[in-house]
Amino acid sequence: MSEPKRSIIWFRRDLRITDHPALMEAITTSDEIVPVFILDKNLIGQSGSKRLAYLGASLRALDETLGNSLHVMVGDQVEVLQSLMQRYNASAVHISKEFEPYGAARDERVAAAGIPLIATGSPYAVAPGRVLKPSDATPYKVYTPFYRAWCIHGWRKPVAAPKKIQCATPTDGDRNFPDWKVPEGTTISVAGEKAALERWKYFKKNALNSYDEGRNIPGIDGTSKLGAHLKWGEIHPRTLLADLGESKAHDVYRKEIAWREFYADVLFNNPGTDTQYYAPRFAEMRYNEPDEKFEAWKTGMTGYPFVDAAMRQLVKEGWMHNRTRMVVASFLVKDLHLEWQLGADFFMEHLVDYDVASNAHGWQWTAGTGTDASPYYRVFNPIEQGKRFDENGDYIRRYIPELADLPASQIHEPWLYPVDTRYPERIVDHAVERLESLERLKEIKVDTLPYPHA
Ligand SMILES: Cc1cc2nc3c(=O)[nH]c(=O)nc-3n(C[C@H](O)[C@H](O)[C@H](O)COP(=O)(O)OP(=O)(O)OC[C@H]3O[C@@H](n4cnc5c(N)ncnc54)[C@H](O)[C@@H]3O)c2cc1C
Repeated sequence: MSEPKRSIIWFRRDLRITDHPALMEAITTSDEIVPVFILDKNLIGQSGSKRLAYLGASLRALDETLGNSLHVMVGDQVEVLQSLMQRYNASAVHISKEFEPYGAARDERVAAAGIPLIATGSPYAVAPGRVLKPSDATPYKVYTPFYRAWCIHGWRKPVAAPKKIQCATPTDGDRNFPDWKVPEGTTISVAGEKAALERWKYFKKNALNSYDEGRNIPGIDGTSKLGAHLKWGEIHPRTLLADLGESKAHDVYRKEIAWREFYADVLFNNPGTDTQYYAPRFAEMRYNEPDEKFEAWKTGMTGYPFVDAAMRQLVKEGWMHNRTRMVVASFLVKDLHLEWQLGADFFMEHLVDYDVASNAHGWQWTAGTGTDASPYYRVFNPIEQGKRFDENGDYIRRYIPELADLPASQIHEPWLYPVDTRYPERIVDHAVERLESLERLKEIKVDTLPYPHA
């Protein structure tokens, strides 16, 4: 009997089998596939323990759907792939195309070493770089016209999981599943494709139809919490988009998926902006050095309950609500006068759904330094934001036990009332720091929009 034709499917941010174009391509062009995940020490080094624990669980879940044939390998990608190709006499390595700077550079290096990479599909409904202005074929720098053009471009329908996957059998040496534990005292969401599809089903039934309103209230389960599933590709955005209708709530949800695609596109077209200012003028602004106030921000001890609840949620759950991501980011940049990258790095360490493009540009948007950003002079008021979006204080009480007994009328400004002394005094006065941040803005003379890039 002749040897089966084999190809490798190299999983990275696509840990699923449903609607997976690269996996389909591998299956249809070979008799047997070799599913591989390579542990990358660079990425592991910059991931916090919660994200690693999630990844470990996601790999186990993928392995289960592949009949326990996932090869989890340690080492340099070129060496691992070369050795597997030789061992299995494989003719190609199938991948979903990567666009963010690190992944794209890694794939270039692997291809340059002579490994026949075949890229099919990507983690996006529309791959970065595709949506261009019809007038001059340049990329969009502002979200709303990007969104319109993205909708017109469109995407194909999702396809079902393959009926049968014939996998090569790994040896014991190929099964290097990491033993990353969820850190004590923290809870993270359930990983894997099955959990992603179940969560989507639950969200559709319970919260999608009121998403336009519910998405702003951190104290309720009003958002899809699919960020980590999307980050690891346990579900593809096409699957979500295909289920959306034309109501206002569905439209708002589609727009959020488009923000993810927009930021991936922006980073693709401006590769340095994961760490550098998109509007370079802001690099010249007067910032403070990180000190004990930064530590207070990180540990949820600023004395501003809405900020502190959010930071404690991040550290405990590896997730933070979008409303409070904006509030804590604004607080770091405009109240503490620290550079956004410090906050982005802390998010990188703790977020399970950390995504280089959405994180850097979410920060830059809030800091007022990014694409069609919230203008710098828009300073989120942590007290008013709390009163408006956590009216009864439920979110605050959930994460700050020291304030659990305060009524809604007092919980947003506890410094006005006698409270549990374990809860700190305010580390800054928001009204004063707001004016200070506007002064600093004046110094760099960014008083007109649009920014240089807009
Ligand atoms: C400072 C800051 C940092 C952020 N860092 C990240 C990050 O590292 N990773 C990340 O996925 N998102 C990030 N976001 C965007 C947003 O906060 C999260 O995507 C969202 O809170 C995830 O929760 P969810 O899945 O319940 O979102 P939902 O409200 O259910 O939205 C559905 C999906 O749409 C996408 N999405 C929603 N809002 C945004 C947005 N503003 N920008 C980009 N995509 C969006 C996400 O993929 C999200 O999972 C950041 C936002 C800010 C302001």
